[in-house]
Amino acid sequence: MVLVDIFKAIWTYWPLLSGTIIVLYIYQDHKTQFQLHQIQTKTALDPDAPKSITYSPSRQCNFRCGFCFHPATNSTMPISEAQKGLRLLRAAGMQKLNIAGGEPFLHPRFLAQLLIYSKEHLHLDCVSILSNGSKIPEYFLERYGKYIDILAISCDSFIKETNEVIRCGDDGDKHVEQLFRVAGWCRRYGVRFKLNTVVNAYNWSEDMVAHITELELFRWEVFPCLSGEGENENETRVRDASKFLVSDEQWNTFCERHKHLECFVPQDHRNMAGSYLLLDEEMCFLDKGTGG
Ligand code: SF4
Repeated sequence: MVLVDIFKAIWTYWPLLSGTIIVLYIYQDHKTQFQLHQIQTKTALDPDAPKSITYSPSRQCNFRCGFCFHPATNSTMPISEAQKGLRLLRAAGMQKLNIAGGEPFLHPRFLAQLLIYSKEHLHLDCVSILSNGSKIPEYFLERYGKYIDILAISCDSFIKETNEVIRCGDDGDKHVEQLFRVAGWCRRYGVRFKLNTVVNAYNWSEDMVAHITELELFRWEVFPCLSGEGENENETRVRDASKFLVSDEQWNTFCERHKHLECFVPQDHRNMAGSYLLLDEEMCFLDKGTGG
């Protein structure tokens, strides 16, 4: 009998009840939006807010570039821990996230979860990925392209032999073929496509104009090869970048040859110190000093 009475009451007062539920829902939503707005307003005014973060969830990579800064074979942390770290960074003012490595596409499930979380829960302005391109399948961009603002691929040469020297034995031809495939998929699925090139002792004299034009990049970032103390500065390290370094003259020659390209953006590391923060696989900040 009691149950019947309860159903009767719900039936009678349903319009009133549903109205109250809707009002409560709208109130909660506004409260959440207001809290988020408060965080954003506060951090936007804070000059020390960590606005742009480059996060390396893992140092694992299938390439072996001679000047690599982060050669190692560890794995990613649990996704819940990574999400928690990103949530704290968002609250502290993060607006842009760049997911790098190692090679992020060696962990596609983890990567997909990071992308969805960054866009759907953290509402980041810009989410980008830095990859060597070799492990990107089309299905990934088709399914998760809507969560990626920019896909950056590292490519240091369009010449098979040069690639093989830089990559220490990887098949140079396959890399360039895959690069063009990925560029096509990015166009198809609405992801902005960017290239990163490290100018080094083996590629500084290369003319890349034709290939770069064909790729229809929105941005081509070019960096001089660096060595970092404690990372790759000599033969005692896992990688020795010393034989890849370029002189100022070689760097300038490369820049002169390509500077007429609209997408060309030379990145002198001395101007980059302090413009972004590096986060390693343990979610610890790295000291990139003046050059890393
Ligand atoms: S592709 Fe990048 S992470 Fe992989 S070895 Fe080369 S520089 Fe290192």
